[in-house]
Amino acid sequence: MPSDWVGSGRRSGLPDGAQMTRVGLLALQGGVVEHGRLLAELGADVVPVRAPSDLVGPDGPRVDALVLPGGESSTIDKLLRLFELAEPLRDAIASGLPTLGTCAGLVLLAREVVDPAPGQQSLGVLDVTVQRNAFGPQVDSAETALVTALGAVRVAFIRAPIVTRLGTGVEELATWQDRVVAVRQGKVTGISFHPELTGDPTFHRALLASAAGSVRAA
Ligand code: GLN
Repeated sequence: MPSDWVGSGRRSGLPDGAQMTRVGLLALQGGVVEHGRLLAELGADVVPVRAPSDLVGPDGPRVDALVLPGGESSTIDKLLRLFELAEPLRDAIASGLPTLGTCAGLVLLAREVVDPAPGQQSLGVLDVTVQRNAFGPQVDSAETALVTALGAVRVAFIRAPIVTRLGTGVEELATWQDRVVAVRQGKVTGISFHPELTGDPTFHRALLASAAGSVRAA
């Protein structure tokens, strides 16, 4: 893929043997490029994930962290199952891989989805209920400075979901218009909005911090 962020780690200038954080970026559909650029700017080695072998090798996980981008969650769900990625993704996240899901990515992470497309499934690795397209046509898209538990973040909302139920151990990280729009459970963070479109690195930096020190196969 001719993008300026793919394999960014190889251009890092780090001495041989020094490891950068390798971030798997689900690249089946949606806003992939913007996440890739932001992660590369933060110094990550970005690996597009399109097949199980991008995620896990014979010796274990091939990435230190994972990003599930926005897009259309029902389409991404279909593609995940078509490419036999749903199961490996679920296993990797459930076994502790630091993960950030944005917008459709949050829908994919959720245990339950309200207003799913016909037949739509989710990975069920974040114990929340998410309602798709919850703001309706009146807030189809908006840009704002959001107050979050990680600080003020400049973000865009686009046909955003909300979190309507938080399971045990799920922290609320932000609300917008009295609705929960950011949550975290252990190493899994789900946000309704798009910081990658405004170029705000706060959540991506937190993902890299969470991945620091984790061990992976080569
Ligand atoms: N409404 C979309 C969905 O349910 C999400 C929109 C987005 O990712 N910007 O997948």
